[in-house]
Amino acid sequence: MSNKRFSLALHGGAGSAPGHDYSQEIAHMRGLVEAARDRLAAGDSALDVATATVVALEASGLYIAGKGASPNAAGAYELDACLMDGASGRAGSIATLQGFESPILAARAVMEKTPHVMLAGEGAMAFARSQGLKEIEDPASWFTQAGAFESNHPPDHPTGTVGCVVRDAEGRLAAATSTAGVFGKMPGRIGDSPLIGAGAWADDTVAVSCTGQGEFFIRTAVAVQIAHRMRFGGESLESAAAAAITGVAALGGDGGLIAIDRDGRVAMPFASDGVKRAALLPDGTIFSAAF
Ligand code: ASP
Repeated sequence: MSNKRFSLALHGGAGSAPGHDYSQEIAHMRGLVEAARDRLAAGDSALDVATATVVALEASGLYIAGKGASPNAAGAYELDACLMDGASGRAGSIATLQGFESPILAARAVMEKTPHVMLAGEGAMAFARSQGLKEIEDPASWFTQAGAFESNHPPDHPTGTVGCVVRDAEGRLAAATSTAGVFGKMPGRIGDSPLIGAGAWADDTVAVSCTGQGEFFIRTAVAVQIAHRMRFGGESLESAAAAAITGVAALGGDGGLIAIDRDGRVAMPFASDGVKRAALLPDGTIFSAAF
């Protein structure tokens, strides 16, 4: 089944504001695609590359995830993330995590070090601490975009998440998603991003990472819907991904996704003003866009 080519896609969130200059984010994403390409060429696994790419997206402060997180309505930073390894079917997730630099590393630790798939709240924080994950020493200076995000991301474009999907040289697929959620969310609100099957999915057919108004992605189980359309309905990647986004829009939601299939084909449909995104396509070219 597998060819030796690899490919990947990553996103920096839905809700591109018309007229806004995203050249910094585009340059950053292209750099990450190049770094991921080098790692894949050296034989790294899809899971490791997806994880490392999301760690870098979180740490950049350029997106509404990790360092660039926006606070909830009570001023707290509650972060969500998950990942899934298509080769093994294993998954890990963390929700409403506070105080740690990398939610995706916490999700990966849940997958690898616990019998569970998902931890939330106090238990998630105690677990992250027990794993020695890096804590944020000074939230006021760590969340560099706090306060700046309103000007960068006008309130009518209230979302922004990061994610990565990878097909490695062995044909393995993986997906990872990380977010601060939507602007002004209620304390305790959990969106699609940490939900396996809604905000991310990976099996041996397809890997998906979503971004947009999470409530709509949960209600339509977007990520696993694409997998099932392909597996049980025989649909192509392109048609399954487009149908899932059409379903979100039909409910009145907006957002987009990145998806990659077992042959390394990439689809990145959206029903929103745009999605900041970049990809290494199977022919070796790098694509990037915000709208
Ligand atoms: N989907 C995320 C959420 O609802 C937000 C986003 O993608 O920007 O939490």
